[in-house]
Amino acid sequence: MSVLVVGSVAFDSIETPFGSRQDVVGGAATYFALAASCFTKVHVVGAVGEDFGPAHMQVLQRRGIDLSGLERVKGKTFRWAGRYSYDLNSRETLDTQLGVFEKFNPRIPESCLAPDLLFLGNIDPDLQWSVLQQVKRPRLVGCDTMNFWIEGKLASLKRTLSGVDTLVINDSEARELAGEANLVKAAALIRAMGPKILIVKRGEFGAAAFGSGAPFAVPALLLDTVNDPTGAGDSFAGGMMGYLAAHAGEGSIGESALRRAIAMGSVMASFTVQSFGVEGLLDLTRERIDQRYEEFRRLSHFHEA
Ligand code: AMP
Repeated sequence: MSVLVVGSVAFDSIETPFGSRQDVVGGAATYFALAASCFTKVHVVGAVGEDFGPAHMQVLQRRGIDLSGLERVKGKTFRWAGRYSYDLNSRETLDTQLGVFEKFNPRIPESCLAPDLLFLGNIDPDLQWSVLQQVKRPRLVGCDTMNFWIEGKLASLKRTLSGVDTLVINDSEARELAGEANLVKAAALIRAMGPKILIVKRGEFGAAAFGSGAPFAVPALLLDTVNDPTGAGDSFAGGMMGYLAAHAGEGSIGESALRRAIAMGSVMASFTVQSFGVEGLLDLTRERIDQRYEEFRRLSHFHEA
């Protein structure tokens, strides 16, 4: 099964206490696509400017990602710069230059109008809605958003959420969207807005999923090197949806496949945070991924008392 992702493709400048990178290929759709491409065919819809050259395209093409929906338009590629605190838990955005992203209006190419799985990256909820209107109903629609849209476009966001199966956001966003401090209560309120499943990313503390049954939670891998958390959430979503595309089987996606997919999302995020930018995702083999999945499984495996 294939995955279609709509979102930002960017040049990022990143400063962490452990190093920095200038103008490297980033963006939410990039991290998502690189992670998902380890499992399945991925199509990217987005926009870049004239400064996004063949070498930049190669970052995605090398992994067989379909870029026929990545429009190259007159102007500059979206640019983002951020700086992290010593414990990497807080981040200051130093600069955001929308460039061609300002007028981005996603047009899904004909070849991608019937994706099996669709991920609506963190963009204007009106644009996310427009994507939902263009495609034939996918088997699973995942979605991300951020405080900016929760605060500025709540009605549009709620309309989008009515067509979403799985919302993947961080804990502060979940609390803000629900207007409720307790995550369990917040999850119930958000699920009433449309998504059958809410996945809450909790940074170095892992992730939790809330659906119709009992909640499910995983820790994050305990790594001896963490260099740059940029894109961890998008890599998590890409790993999760890519894994589902490859392994969910026929029929509705069951709870055990979803649990494994969440674990795989955590594994892919762990590769991202170990290196800078997308570097940790570039040369992964399925063998290394499966080995880390097994380490992750052992991390929190225990028996009944
Ligand atoms: P994350 O660390 O999950 O927040 O994702 C970081 C990525 O999001 C970076 O590669 C940025 O290029 C991209 N990004 C930052 N701000 C925005 C924005 N307002 N819209 C879309 N993408 C963004």
